[in-house]
This record gives sequence, structure tokens and C-alpha cells, in this order.
Amino acid sequence: MSLIVQKFGGTSVADSQKILAAARKAIRCQQEGHQVVMVVSAMGKNTDALVALAREINDFPPAREMDMLLSTGEQVSVALMAMAINALGHHGVSLTGGQIGIRTDSTHTKARIRSISTERVQRLLDEGNIVIAAGFQGIDEDFNITTLGRGGSDTTAVALAAVLQADACEIYTDVDGVYTTDPRLVPEARRVAHISYDEMLELASLGAGVMHSRSIEFAKKFSVPIHVRSSFTDIPGSLIVSEPESRSVPVSGAAMTKDEARITIAGVPDRPGCIHELFSPIAARNVSVDMIVQNVGDEGKTDISFTVPSVEMAPTLDAIGEAASALGRLAVNHDDQVSKVSVVGLGMARQSGVADRMFRALADAKINIQMITTSEIKISVLVSRQQSLEALRVVHRAFHLERAPGDHSSTLPELTPSARDAADVATQLQGVHMERLMLDQVTMDDSQARVTIVGVPDTPGVAARVFEEVAAAGIFVDMIVQSYGNDGRASLSFTVPRDNLAHSLEVVRRLAGSFPNTKITNSPHIAKLSVSGIGLRSHTDVAVRMFEALARAGVNVAMINTSEVRVNIVVDGAAGPAALQALKTAFADALPQSRDGVHR
Ligand code: ADP
Ligand code: ASP
Ligand code: MG
Repeated sequence: MSLIVQKFGGTSVADSQKILAAARKAIRCQQEGHQVVMVVSAMGKNTDALVALAREINDFPPAREMDMLLSTGEQVSVALMAMAINALGHHGVSLTGGQIGIRTDSTHTKARIRSISTERVQRLLDEGNIVIAAGFQGIDEDFNITTLGRGGSDTTAVALAAVLQADACEIYTDVDGVYTTDPRLVPEARRVAHISYDEMLELASLGAGVMHSRSIEFAKKFSVPIHVRSSFTDIPGSLIVSEPESRSVPVSGAAMTKDEARITIAGVPDRPGCIHELFSPIAARNVSVDMIVQNVGDEGKTDISFTVPSVEMAPTLDAIGEAASALGRLAVNHDDQVSKVSVVGLGMARQSGVADRMFRALADAKINIQMITTSEIKISVLVSRQQSLEALRVVHRAFHLERAPGDHSSTLPELTPSARDAADVATQLQGVHMERLMLDQVTMDDSQARVTIVGVPDTPGVAARVFEEVAAAGIFVDMIVQSYGNDGRASLSFTVPRDNLAHSLEVVRRLAGSFPNTKITNSPHIAKLSVSGIGLRSHTDVAVRMFEALARAGVNVAMINTSEVRVNIVVDGAAGPAALQALKTAFADALPQSRDGVHR
């Protein structure tokens, strides 16, 4: 018999009529012959109201007590939903996270799921009940109530779908599918028929609030197809599956993280290990760091800029204070009025001229780009918060995201969970933490060279000009980073195939004539080391583990970029093989095991 998990978000259970409507959807699904598990969120804005109540009493409420409080929101919803099912003449049983056996670690307010027991749910389903599970919560080893982080009911739903080997996981919400960007911010955004796990993962972690990003990690790991659709209409919605909607377009979505903060630290000694000493106290506080860019400066000193969610700026500055004792005098400056705007697409890895299109659109709108980082499937820029909404809109327009791609199919693909793969993974993870870091591989690419322009003016249009010229010369650019220009000047680095280095330098030298006082440096032989897999950003310590391994091997880090599915670090070419070995050893526990039990 098939099994469907249906998740109803806050707005979908905001009042008694909506609860009854959701109950009817579940009953209809059961009557069509499926076993049904409902996962429900707190009613309306109840979680926000509880957070506000806590703050009225205590500015820094203990995390354990926050979890005790916030979990009550979902408990109200499940009980009412069971009553609704009962009122409609059917059998429903409500269960809290603890009653289902959702075991988590003890990181209160952002706990990770370790395991879920299925016996009780399966027995209740077999007896003909609709099971109603409280989203967003679990219990730790000592039976403390934990919560999974805001928006975490999606993760409960997909995790339950994974362990129950459900045929589908339906996410009912207040929007009728996944859009190319938040339709509340950009009205011309287009609903996609489907989107790949990798693209949704990036978009979710870059600000697309429609799905909790950790839920997509589960979906990808266990091959759970997700169907995002409206609670209030019956139109088909969007599927999140392994395939992208189009193979031809470079960009499939855009997102914004509005509340970011930038931190720049000057005077960091430029030697192996410093970057690790700087970031490990930050990772120890579970802060997720993004857009790490370093500027190789003069006299053996470098400056490092990075972004964190603005609510995490205080603990980050605290952590930097701790690092300063090991690193000596550091000059720190920060700005908590910035936002990150990103574009995502599996197609951009195969096309050139994508970054310059984004930079040109921003330049034409007179929006200054404060920092840039790119990875294989995303480009992120940091802009002032004041200009962020405009930035999102112009970028959306620049890639014509409102139009369906020529090769897209408007029909939904078959909902076929890859049962074999999922079962394989389930076996692989038996007895292991379900949300543990899972890597595919550690690789090295030593075919590229680096070009850096030091001292470009920190004004709109610079990146656009540089990358338009480079693209016009037919040169394929891989990584781009632009540092924060502390003194009104930034530095812009990019990597190209080594064969194109001379040509790239020619292009850049020609351009540099119009930017006075710039200096061009290059490195003809670099090695890009990549760690790829699932959970690379939500496990906030991955980059730090890489830095630590490289520091031990005496290797200096030159460039970094992080994404959900891949972390890339550029080092000097000669150090490549040693760096690769160091990373393989450091991540042996997360890499797939070969048949004879030896780590690859
Ligand atoms: P729920 O309470 O059902 O979990 P959320 O508020 O968490 O609902 O998520 C739905 C909201 O996500 C939508 O109302 C929409 O404004 C926002 N959103 C952000 N990015 C996107 C996107 N790319 N596609 C669709 N909705 C998005
Ligand atoms: N009620 C929780 C929140 O508002 C969880 C969820 O809705 O997904 O964050
Ligand atoms: Mg949500």
C-alpha cells in the first residue's frame, strides 16, 4: 500500500476552518487508497508570538526552555487536527516528536535528527488511522524536548517520508509551488514545474524561505520526491526531484538573504594555520559563515572578509576576540546593513558569460557590489540592504526568470522515488546519525591559473567591465572572488584554464589602464581542492575541518568558496597533492567506504 506524507504549514492551519480543510485533504487521500501521515506546524504566527512572549520575560532565554515553550505550538495543532479528523467521522491519532521517537542531538533550538523509530507510526497506520505528527520537534537522549530550527516542520516531514519510505511528501503551504524567487518580493516570479534537489538546496540556504534547507538534504540523501503545493487550491504545484527543469538555461532561481552582516579582519598573518585559528572559535559557536574572501596584502599580512547572519554578529565578534589572543593585533570592522543576493542554476557550470550578465544588470541599476563569491552552481554578491530588493529584481529580470525556458516541460515528471537508492542509503546509515555529513568525494583540479587585480575602485560597474571583457575574449572563468574594499579599493581574483592565463593577463592589463593604481598579480599554477556531498553548509564545521587539515600539512589557503553541495579551496599548485591527501584523511569518516571496507 502506498504511503503519503502531507505537511501543513502555519498559514494552512491558522484557524479552525483551515484545520478542517486540511483534515478533509488527508481524508480524501486516505480514501484514494493511501496510508496518510500528516505533519503540522504551529497555527498561524503562534511560534512568533511565543518567541515574543519569552523575550518579554527574558532577553536571553535559556535554549532548553525555548524549546520547551516553542514545541507547544505544534502540540496544539496536532490535537486539534486529530479532533477535526474525528469530527469528520474518521480515525486520527496525534503524536508529539517524542512519542514518534524522533531522536535528536542536544543542540537546543537547532537540533539535528539522529534517528526516527517507525514501529508506532506504522502500527497506527495499519490499524487504519491517519497519523498526525507534530512538526519541528524531537527529544534528546535525556528526553529533553528539542526543536529543529525555525521552519523545521518541513524537515520533520521529509525525514518521516524517508524512514517510512513514503511514495511522496506533499508540502501544503500558502504559495502554490516553488517560484523562481519569492513571489512576494518579485511579483513577476514564475512557478516552476520542477526543480532539482541541488538547486533547491542552494536556494533554500540562500534565503528562499519556502523550504527548510535541511529538509532538502534529507530528500536528496534518501531520494524523497517533494511536491510543494497550495493548501487553498488544487493546482498541481512544483516537484523537487533529482532532475532540473531545463538543461539549457544557466540560472533557474534567485534568492536574497536580507539580514546579513559583513565582518572584515585586517592584519591576519599570511601563514598556514591562521585561517583555521580564526574560524575555529566561530564554528564552535555553530555560526554559519559564508562569502569568505581573503585579500593577500603586503608584508605578510592579509585581510579576511566574510558574512554571517546579522543575528549572529555578536557571538562572531566574541569568537574573533578569542582568536585575537593567538593571532596578535587584529583590526576588525563590520557592517550589519548588508544583504546577499544570489543566483543559482545547474546550467551555469557549463556556460560562460553568466557572472558578467549579473554584474552588468547591477551596474546598470547603479548598485555597488561589495563582495562576490561564486561556486559551480551559484553566484552571490553582497550589496547594501537598502538596495537589496532592487538588486534581486534586476537580477531576476536579467536572466529572464519570468519566462519558461524553451526546453522545459510543463507537465510534472513521474513521482518515482528511487526505492533502491533510498534503501541503499537507509542500510548505509543504519545506526548512524541520519543528518550526519555525507561526502561523495574529495577531488583536485590542478589545471587552472589565478589572476588578481589589486586595488580596483569600489564603485558600481567594475566587475561588469572586467568580466564582460574576459567573456568577450572567449575565456571561461571558473571561480570569482571580490574582497571588501576597506579603503575604497577592492581586489578581484578569478581562475581560468592555465592555457588562457597569458590571454587573460593581456585583457586585464588593457583594462587596468582605466583603473589607476591597480596592480595585477597572478599564479600560473594553482590547485583547486573540492569536497562534495550533502550537508556541507549546515555542518558549520566543514570549512574549518578543511582549514585545520591544510594547516597541519603546512599548506596556505589562497581562495575559498562554499556551497551546499561543495566546498572549494584554492592552494598553490605545488602543494596540491599534499593538500589532497590531507583532506582525504581528515574526511575519511564521511566518505563512502569501498567494498573491502577501506575508505576511498
Ligand atoms: P509555511 O508556513 O507553510 O511553512 P512559509 O512561510 O515557511 O510557509 O513558506 C512559504 C513562503 O515562502 C511563501 O509565502 C513565499 O513568500 C516564501 N518564498 C520564498 N522564496 C520562495 C520561492 N522561491 N518560491 C515560493 N515561495 C517562496
Ligand atoms: N512552527 C515552527 C516555525 O514557525 C516550525 C515550522 O513552522 O516549520 O518556525
Ligand atoms: Mg515553512
